[in-house]
Amino acid sequence: MKLIITALLILLSCQPLFAASDLSGDIENDYDQHLGDLWDHFHRNPELSLMEFKTAERLTKELEAVGFKVTEKIGGTGIVAMMENGKGPMVMVRADMDGLPVTEKSGLPNASTATMTDWDGNEVGVMHACGHDVHITSLVGTGRWMSANKNKWSGTLMLIGQPAEEKGPGASAMMDDNIWQKFGQPDYALAFHVGSTGVAGKVYVDEGSPYAGADTVDITVHGIGAHGAYPHSGKDPVVIASQIVLNLQTIISRELAPRDAGVITVGALHSGTKHNIISDRAELQLTVRSLNPRVRTQLLDAIERVAHGTARTAGLPEDKLPDVSVSEFSYPPTQNDKKLAQRVKRIVLDKMGEDTLAEPDNLGMGAEDFGFFTTDPYIPSVYFGVGGTPAEDFEKAKNGGPAVPSHHSPLFKITPEPAVRTGVEATIHMLMDLMPAS
Ligand SMILES: [Zn+2]
Ligand SMILES: [Zn+2]
Repeated sequence: MKLIITALLILLSCQPLFAASDLSGDIENDYDQHLGDLWDHFHRNPELSLMEFKTAERLTKELEAVGFKVTEKIGGTGIVAMMENGKGPMVMVRADMDGLPVTEKSGLPNASTATMTDWDGNEVGVMHACGHDVHITSLVGTGRWMSANKNKWSGTLMLIGQPAEEKGPGASAMMDDNIWQKFGQPDYALAFHVGSTGVAGKVYVDEGSPYAGADTVDITVHGIGAHGAYPHSGKDPVVIASQIVLNLQTIISRELAPRDAGVITVGALHSGTKHNIISDRAELQLTVRSLNPRVRTQLLDAIERVAHGTARTAGLPEDKLPDVSVSEFSYPPTQNDKKLAQRVKRIVLDKMGEDTLAEPDNLGMGAEDFGFFTTDPYIPSVYFGVGGTPAEDFEKAKNGGPAVPSHHSPLFKITPEPAVRTGVEATIHMLMDLMPAS
């Protein structure tokens, strides 16, 4: 008896060692038996934005096979897969499906050799150079586990295969197709992006905005043309445009509160035809990034004021002030719901362990179109990150080895197994918490 009690005590005291997710065994098995091959298939067969026909077809087949009711062609090639499983909230999980016009040079045995005719009629190499193959494989992995374990949750699960994240109109096209009216509006929404800059096996949760909002602004400066040798008889739009470029920089450095973030980049400046002609026109193309609607309005208003003010200073009359136009297609920032993000962090900590949760290091202002789903109407959501590069690769890079390739590079690579397994596991833990069995 004493021996049994001792053995029991040893077992109990050992438990924290095995406190890692009880899901991990299931997901590991499914990766070995199914998901690994599926990732391989998706990686070898990428498709360009708005042309994700075979990807959507395969995704549909995979999810129908485990009991989801799938509707295709939502907002183009998008799919919506529904599983009703009793009372409880509706939770949406989104994965983007598109590859990029990049010819893969990763040297991996399963590198893509696919080519497609792009939107301008050019034959281009196509590659999953942003890791969306990990997202769709994980969506299937999540769907398979949730379907096989319906006794462990209660509610409605909505899985979305979204087209054209890279090109922009995917999520907004699904919204324009009245997705919530057709399938119901989710109570919560989840998505993740795998990152080559993140350590494989880690989950990154931001309590603020993991992705910025993006606006495209065009400024046309109307000068007065003249001979290059007679500047006094014209108004040089090259000089005015140059001053506008410099004056725009002070909006970020001098007008924006230091703890607010924003970017104004003039990506293109075109004017003139010849050395000795003062042109009558200059065109500037800007990208403007912000993390919330307040800063967005501040930046856009300031850009117009600076453009007009600079032109006035140059002596241009009121009817010749620059045209400043903001493109109607604007990305809202991807803002995580703070409370939900804190809850999700707790779930990852409790279920996957302290070593799994990592602080995000979002230094840039990249944009995403997930915000179209969650901004208007507002849906509490969390967009998290999953690492895709083994820790030893970062070590090697630090010690003079090859640099870790960035997203959209022909050398881009993700180590699929830890990325898919972590993505699936984290998503399922979040879903189980949001849709507990009743
Ligand atoms: Zn991308
Ligand atoms: Zn991406």
